[in-house]
Formats: sequence, structure tokens, C-alpha cells
Amino acid sequence: MSFRRIAVEEAFVTPEIMKQWHVVLAGSDVEPGFAKMGETILAQTPGNKPLDDRLLDIGAARIAHMDAIGIDMQVLSLTSPGVQVFESALATRLAAESNDVLAAAVRAYPTRFAGLAAIAPQNPAAAAKEIERGATELGLCGIIVNSHTKGEYLDAPKFRPILEAAQAHDLPIYLHPREPAASWVGPYLDYALWFAGWGFAAETGLHAMRLIMSGTFDRFPKLKIVLGHMGEGLPFWLQRIDNRYRLEVKIGACEKLARLPSEYFLDNFVITTSGVTSMPALRLSLDELGVDRILFAADFPYEDDAEAVRFMDGASVTEEERKKIYETNACRVFKLAGR
Ligand code: MN
Repeated sequence: MSFRRIAVEEAFVTPEIMKQWHVVLAGSDVEPGFAKMGETILAQTPGNKPLDDRLLDIGAARIAHMDAIGIDMQVLSLTSPGVQVFESALATRLAAESNDVLAAAVRAYPTRFAGLAAIAPQNPAAAAKEIERGATELGLCGIIVNSHTKGEYLDAPKFRPILEAAQAHDLPIYLHPREPAASWVGPYLDYALWFAGWGFAAETGLHAMRLIMSGTFDRFPKLKIVLGHMGEGLPFWLQRIDNRYRLEVKIGACEKLARLPSEYFLDNFVITTSGVTSMPALRLSLDELGVDRILFAADFPYEDDAEAVRFMDGASVTEEERKKIYETNACRVFKLAGR
């Protein structure tokens, strides 16, 4: 069976955003998790230079790499923490500028690149406008939000214009990890727990659960959220989340939602394989969610995309399932053109 390999969580950054991160990091009021990023993966060291060079290139060199690995298309998004560590006006401006750069790359390589629009939740009205511009003028196929914005989550009422615009333009929101927010990062600051091995999933899983438990999907029933890293662990917890939710309602700990938490997860979320090459994890996700809710992603350039392709090419699934995970589901969720 023939298929295209479409990878949907593939990172880039602009030189200006990289520069402005370091302005924030040199300041006096740095989020503790972001400071850790600044000391390690964002540090401008010779060791990090190959990674930075790959993030900065959305042109011929990236295409050549994709050809070598066998990736037909990358859905590109502004890498974590994106514009969310900036003050409102700067964040809004840099989101728009990076969307212009991204849209130009997609225009240059329309069969190889698609892109998610960055937004600055710091200014919800401007973010809603940027979603409209991304969907119409720029031809972008989704929205990237690098989890919390200065400790705030998208379930907060002030962010409703963003969710409204996403739903109105039928653009999925890719909820991408970053370090836990300042209010709760403390115990994560040791042993690299703030980083991608655990803290990123804790942060993004929390964000997803806040959306579910706040009744956000009763207000925005058509809103679609994309979670990477095999659903940030949530597929594993769905049965228990429902089980305890029933008790939480009974003991008055939370409000009754129209539906069970797992039902929102199945209807309003899809997950991607980014950074996970474990057949037991994929098997569980297939069993819990079904094959139509799982998309392939490599998390280039942070993860080994050759290994991601080897895993998915060799995964114990049917050929029909492999095609859905590699291509069909991505085309449906991001409305990518067929071949
Ligand atoms: Mn990623």
C-alpha cells in the first residue's frame, strides 16, 4: 500500500524570536522553567549550534534532509516556548512575523510543507484576528500554542475569543509542551524533571485536562485539540479519569459535565506519535482511541526522525492502519491536499 509520510509536529524558529528569548533570559524576572531551558537546550553553545541551525532552516537543507529520511511532508510549527514568554505587544508582533515567514516557506514548497499559525494569547483579540489571517490570507492549517502563557491556560474565560476563532475557522489547536508554569514548577526543577522526559507531559496533560474539566468542549463542541507524545499520557489514564470523575461529581468536588471526560477526549482530541517509538504505547493508544485519532510526527529536529520512520514503518499494525497514521488522518485533521 502506498502512502506519504506526513510528520505533523516539526519545529522551526526565526532568528528574531531566538534573539528575543535571550533578551528575556538576560532579564531579571525569568520564569524558573524557562531559565532552565536557557541554561541548557537554548544556550548558545557550540554543542547546540547544529540544533539551532536545523531549527532556523525551513528551506532547501531541510527538504534535502526530509528526502534522505523519507519524510514527504512536514507540518511546521514555531518551536517551544514560542512567543509566550514575551510581553503582549512583542508576542503579538513576533507571532505575526513568524507566520509570514512560515507562509512563505509553505508557498515555496507547497507539497512538502504545511504550517500552523503561532498566536499570542497575551492579547486574545489580536490572537483571534491572527487566527483569521492564518486561515484566510496565509493558508495555514492549524494553530500552535506552546501550552501555558505566563502561567495561564486556555480554559480561562478571557481566552474564549481564541477558541471561538479556532472553531469558526475549523483550525485545530496543537497544544505543544513547554516547562511547567512558575506557580508549580518548584519540585520539577531538580533532576531535569522540568524537561521533556516528564515535566513537559505533566504541563501539557494538565492543560488538556483543564480544557476537559472546565466544560470548554460544551461551549466549543467542534474545537479540535492535537496532543503530541502519544497524547501526553492521557490515553493510559482515561478509564481512571472517568471513574474518579463520577465520584468527584458525587462528592461535590467538580461540576457535572454534559459528557464523560473520556468522551471529550475521543471527540475533541487527536494525538500524535512525536518522540514515542514504543509499540506498547502505540498499541494502548490504538485500543483506547482507535486508529483514526493517531497521527505520525517525528518532532524534528529534537528527536531522531530516522528512528521515528523506522519505528512507524515496522510497527505491528495493518497496512491500512499505517497509511492512516502516516497520511490519511493528517490530511483530514489539517485539511491537507491529497496527492
Ligand atoms: Mn515538539
